[in-house]
Amino acid sequence: MDNKILDGRALSKVIEERLTLEVNEIKSQGIFPKLCVVLVGDNPASQSYVKMKANACKRVGIESQLLHFGENTSQDELLATLDSLNSDKSVNGILVQLPLPSHIDTNLILEKIAVEKDVDGFHPYNVGQLLIGGDFAPDSLNACFAPATPLGVMLLLKHYNIDVRSKDVTIIGASNIVGKPLSSLMLNAGASVSICHILTKDLKAHTINADIICVGVGKVNLLTSDMIKNGAIIIDIGINKLPNGAIVGDVDYENVAKKCSFITPVPGGVGPMTISALLQNTIKSAKIQNQRL
Ligand code: NAD
Repeated sequence: MDNKILDGRALSKVIEERLTLEVNEIKSQGIFPKLCVVLVGDNPASQSYVKMKANACKRVGIESQLLHFGENTSQDELLATLDSLNSDKSVNGILVQLPLPSHIDTNLILEKIAVEKDVDGFHPYNVGQLLIGGDFAPDSLNACFAPATPLGVMLLLKHYNIDVRSKDVTIIGASNIVGKPLSSLMLNAGASVSICHILTKDLKAHTINADIICVGVGKVNLLTSDMIKNGAIIIDIGINKLPNGAIVGDVDYENVAKKCSFITPVPGGVGPMTISALLQNTIKSAKIQNQRL
């Protein structure tokens, strides 16, 4: 195994083993964690993500339920569904798979999710907690949830003893689900953060001196070896499907890997860590609702 690889797949297996024990333990105390996933429409990528999440829940002993609505489902119907999930004591975590169809106001839907069940961390309360440096520890009874992908990135770095404190971190991609929350987690952990996006004038100017570069855009070969310094740490969050069906990230892996000190593969890097972080958040939500550690 190449020792440059930040192996999210291997780490996620270790985390799942630990979470399985934890689920068994809380079940013995009468707590049966359950995740409810709301899916609207037939986006194939969303369907496959939802399936992966359900399989992961099953592996660690979390019950999961999928509520699959048609593409034309009304906003009111979704809001009413969330109301009932919020008050259903058997449901601990609620996840609305994004993106939603354009006739639905995504922010309105995310705001409807009860904060203590918001395992995806997209409710404005949790977004605010991220900004003010809330307590996102898995063993805390504070109802604070960080989004799964950025949380997965931080778990991966921590596992490999990569301390982001005082590091120059450049994040490419500024979405609400990846780049912005990741920038808050990095900042809260003591990094100096640059956030780049489609309107950034000169991407290379932000990447060339960075100690850590996180790319989450959805563009093949966006980060090339001439854009990084020797020994940089590369976190590739992108997922792109090539015409031949292969899945690749946003980084020119072959060439960048020769120059960097650590790199996440795609697949097998951030993807599995995202799932682990979601499982961790779901178990935390069950504990919070039962006020038990
Ligand atoms: P998005 O479309 O919401 O956001 C993309 C971001 O990239 C935007 O901020 C945009 O300004 C920026 N961008 C676009 N083109 C750019 C360019 N040429 N240069 C610099 N910035 C540019 O996407 P998203 O939902 O944040 O997802 C981003 C990528 O991450 C996708 O490939 C997605 O599949 C992947 N993703 C992976 C995981 C995982 O678990 N590994 C989870 C979520 C998303």
